[in-house]
Amino acid sequence: MEIYLADLHSEVGKVFSFEEEFIPNYRDISFIEPVHIKLKLVNLGREVLVKGSLKTKIKLVCSRCLKEFPYDLEAKIQEIYLWDVPIQKNISPGEIIELKDEDFKFVLEKESLFLDPLVEDVIRLNLPVKPLCRPDCKGLCPVCGQDLNMGECECSKKRQYDPRWEPLMKFIDKKEGNK
Ligand SMILES: [Zn+2]
Ligand SMILES: [Zn+2]
Repeated sequence: MEIYLADLHSEVGKVFSFEEEFIPNYRDISFIEPVHIKLKLVNLGREVLVKGSLKTKIKLVCSRCLKEFPYDLEAKIQEIYLWDVPIQKNISPGEIIELKDEDFKFVLEKESLFLDPLVEDVIRLNLPVKPLCRPDCKGLCPVCGQDLNMGECECSKKRQYDPRWEPLMKFIDKKEGNK
């Protein structure tokens, strides 16, 4: 994805808006919805300010129950790029610098911004470290592997009657008996 900046280059302070949708091709991330990018580019003179946001939906695996779930990813973008300058050929002092047509062509070619690396960085930096299908996901039983969101398994029922809990159970029974 490339943005052509020739128009923006003409004037300091000029603003250019950019909006696009695309589906990136990353080996390790599957996209359920395209990435929607909205950007404003501002000519700051020596630099270009790139500011905006992106939005998409990706498939993640819950770190507790190991189920796939859709994740809404939203992120802000802010980056500053330097304008490309014409090639400075090896010029000895005193020589008159004369830009030839080919130099200008080079500059024009470079007056575009290749967005893909920036977009990929922003997406990767905004992936959750411990993805959860929901904040209160109960996860899997460490003994039998049952998804505890679907209900308790036999081992977690047994665990409630762990003899080490007996004094506490007795205490609770007593308290409830006093009601
Ligand atoms: Zn989960
Ligand atoms: Zn279990």
